[in-house]
Amino acid sequence: MNKEELWQSALTEIELSISKANFSTWFRNTSIISKKDGVVLLSVPNSFTKEWLENKYNRLVLRSLRNLTSEIKDIKFTIISQSQGVVEKVSLKKEAEVARLESQLNFPEVETDKETNLNPKYTFESFVVGPSNELAHAASLATSKDPGTVYNPLFIYGGVGLGKTHLLQSVGNAALKNHPEKKIVYISLERFMYEFINAIKNKSIEKFKDKYRKVDFLIIDDVQFISGKERTQEEFFHTFNALFEKNKQIILSSDRPPKAISSLEERLLSRFEGGMIADITPPDYEVRFAILKTKTAEKKYDLDDQILGLIAKSITSNIRELEGALNRVIATARLTGSTPSLEKVKQILDSNQKQLKSKITPKNIIKVVSEFYDVKEEALINQSRKREIVYPRQICMYLIREELKNSFPFIGERFGGRDHTTVIHACSKISKELQTNDSLIEEINLIKSRLYN
Ligand code: ADP
Ligand code: MG
Repeated sequence: MNKEELWQSALTEIELSISKANFSTWFRNTSIISKKDGVVLLSVPNSFTKEWLENKYNRLVLRSLRNLTSEIKDIKFTIISQSQGVVEKVSLKKEAEVARLESQLNFPEVETDKETNLNPKYTFESFVVGPSNELAHAASLATSKDPGTVYNPLFIYGGVGLGKTHLLQSVGNAALKNHPEKKIVYISLERFMYEFINAIKNKSIEKFKDKYRKVDFLIIDDVQFISGKERTQEEFFHTFNALFEKNKQIILSSDRPPKAISSLEERLLSRFEGGMIADITPPDYEVRFAILKTKTAEKKYDLDDQILGLIAKSITSNIRELEGALNRVIATARLTGSTPSLEKVKQILDSNQKQLKSKITPKNIIKVVSEFYDVKEEALINQSRKREIVYPRQICMYLIREELKNSFPFIGERFGGRDHTTVIHACSKISKELQTNDSLIEEINLIKSRLYN
């Protein structure tokens, strides 16, 4: 393995161990410069990143590298920044400082428990209940009191950033308190799959099976990623049955209902649908406001209601984004040492929005849509006329038009040189359908929330 490959493999593992936001904040623009006498020298873009990696991620980085080559004993960091003009450097520094403050707000220093993978910060107490999550909350609460009896499995679904992980982890933390003798494990499906694949590689599959079949309370997050993964489905099915037969509790979350998970084996689908299914929808204004209130109290920073109201009004579909915007406002306020004016808050929200938009291109719209419907990107571009392709293609065209305002001929060109009238037809068909078809609205919202995360 050369040093690029080594770092890429280490990053893959690191990415699975921390949140996406954290990963992209701290590991972007890093690389291995050298590897000598068991010491790896890593290049980082600035001093904030250096400090952060040294203090917070040293062990994780070392472990990930060691898993790949055992000869590594230590890591060192060095700053290599692209040469920039003085002015740019100053504003970069300020931005980095805001980013650092924001990140501290986003990820307070709480360790997840090694046995259970539970993060104690997620509790029922800090979860705001409203019409959009009432049922999911009630079912979760009941499950944490009486595991294995009331709702089994409990399947919770809803779009990105609406509180699924928070709720699942709250169940785990509460169950741990209510039933300290029980073995509780929280794991994302991606991580489960990763462990499973490693177990096959390392010929330790028996150990893996044993580990998960001994659990009393299994919480699996983001099961939609099981789509199309045949071997993982097979293994998961057996784990599921083993636990279910012994009345062990299983909780699952997904970004969509079981039926909408493509390439899901029939027998797993019927297992997923066999218990209680509860959805979480985007919160209304009152709940968004209440969440902001709770979060400011947690972060110990007072902002007046007018500012919170403004944030609650402008960010409607995703609570993670809502919290992100709040963090940005608080970080700016801390940096300047004064409460920002409403005007300033508006500016912050606007630039947040612009930043989000700037990440979107036709290419990643196509990518996200193809992943969502589990079809190949090439199929969307080329001439296939199969219904399962035509429909996602129309959605792509519609989204590129709506989100990026590209011209019809440009979009046609992007899809293998199709005529602009084809694009017009696709866009107006989807818009029309959106007026009457609720599940299409839900699909488009899900795709958008993936795009913007
Ligand atoms: P998901 O897993 O559905 O993508 P998360 O559970 O990660 O979403 O939630 C995103 C962020 O929003 C987290 O910081 C979480 O604490 C917060 N959040 C979501 N719903 C609520 C709620 N009802 N009350 C308080 N905070 C919430
Ligand atoms: Mg989640």
